[in-house]
Amino acid sequence: MVRQCSSAHCGAVDAEINEICIGEGWAINHPVLTRDENGPCNCSCSCLAFGTMVQVGDGSFKAIETFVVGDRVLAAGTDLDWSAEPVVYSGGTTGASRQKYTVLVLYSNTAVAVTSDHLFLVASGGERALKQADRLTVEDSLISPEGHPVQVRGVHIGDYLAGFHHVAARTKFPGPGDLDGHLLNTNGVISADYAVQILNRSGEAAGFTSSAFAEAPLVGSAEYVSRYGDSCLKTPELPSGFDEDAPIRTASFDAPDVALSGNTFIPAEAVSITVPEGACSFIPPDLAEEKRSAPKRAFNDPQAREWVEALIRFHRQFYPDVNYIFDWTNDDVNAYAWVENGVRQVAMMGGLVRDQDLELEGLALVLAHELAHHYGGSPTGTSGLSCEGQADYFGVRNVMRKVWFGESYITTTDAGIAQMAAFFGVPADSTDPGGSAGCAHPAGRCRIVTYRAAVSLTGKPGCAS
Ligand SMILES: [Zn+2]
Repeated sequence: MVRQCSSAHCGAVDAEINEICIGEGWAINHPVLTRDENGPCNCSCSCLAFGTMVQVGDGSFKAIETFVVGDRVLAAGTDLDWSAEPVVYSGGTTGASRQKYTVLVLYSNTAVAVTSDHLFLVASGGERALKQADRLTVEDSLISPEGHPVQVRGVHIGDYLAGFHHVAARTKFPGPGDLDGHLLNTNGVISADYAVQILNRSGEAAGFTSSAFAEAPLVGSAEYVSRYGDSCLKTPELPSGFDEDAPIRTASFDAPDVALSGNTFIPAEAVSITVPEGACSFIPPDLAEEKRSAPKRAFNDPQAREWVEALIRFHRQFYPDVNYIFDWTNDDVNAYAWVENGVRQVAMMGGLVRDQDLELEGLALVLAHELAHHYGGSPTGTSGLSCEGQADYFGVRNVMRKVWFGESYITTTDAGIAQMAAFFGVPADSTDPGGSAGCAHPAGRCRIVTYRAAVSLTGKPGCAS
């Protein structure tokens, strides 16, 4: 079993990781690299947004982020026999984080915002089981502290500007399957505490989560949208009489973080775009269609999204006159370049970024190709942007040489070309297949030859001309 950050190797350096995450204002799931062959750790805390009201030992409520170790919190097991338990852990992010892939769950006349791995108690076939927030649907019922079903009215995903926090009650290390003293009343519905969520993350919560839930599609994924509709990507439609004490503010993707205070939800659809007809692309439409069924990383994978956001930050320093767009929710396996109202546009689509053949270096090569459509010069197509073979050559020869300093140019292009060979399903030592692509996309073999020639400075091959 692959162990995630909470246990084993990451657990040993948890305190340092938390210090970095809090110091840098990084959101939950932001990768934190360590010199460790088990992969990156993450800023961790499966949590509730600041302001979520949790019932304390005396029956009153207070906001989740105000709990300190030693406080009393009202807690129960699946029998819902409530009693005051000591808080043994209290932690989370600062208030300034932009938390990606937050799940906003609407029920009754209120809502709660949680990280994707937050666990709710749900009614499941006559039993009570825990279900991760990123698998909830409008067919689910949460459970009230009195044991009554609470129908879910809406499930939405997006970014959330707020701190996130959670507490553990009774003990940090519950026994397998033992929920006693670890269920909390969170804003009128029951959630598991932090100790149980850590167990769940390390795969040890099999005793109280339903295995059927693990197979359920992730909120916002293509499969989820086809089953439950696309409202999960949109701004929630709030019924009249909706909780006026805790209004949900929503904002667009580009709203500057500084201008927003308090809890603000940015629905996933705010980042979606329409690429105009005739935009240059990384791969032709028929290949993009075929690649939709290739193995993909999970929709809520934190790393691939961070890679592209970091790449955009790098490239903006060198190519500041471009509007960079990253449409994570879109399943299109492609990237695009076009000019709109005189402004150069580059767009990376989620389906390409989630493709398992591509990692940071391969995605860097794609971004370089799109920038090269703008800056690669002749030959150009009808749009005035560089032809495909030219974008391939100039992207690796010029754009990547400019962005990747010193030896990192070689290590990045080598890795990127190897990933591209896997993506196109051709040998990494491909040879020029002959012929000429004109201004259109050359064949995969030709593209690999072109990238290698761009690193070696041996001139653009005939097949790409
Ligand atoms: Zn292209």
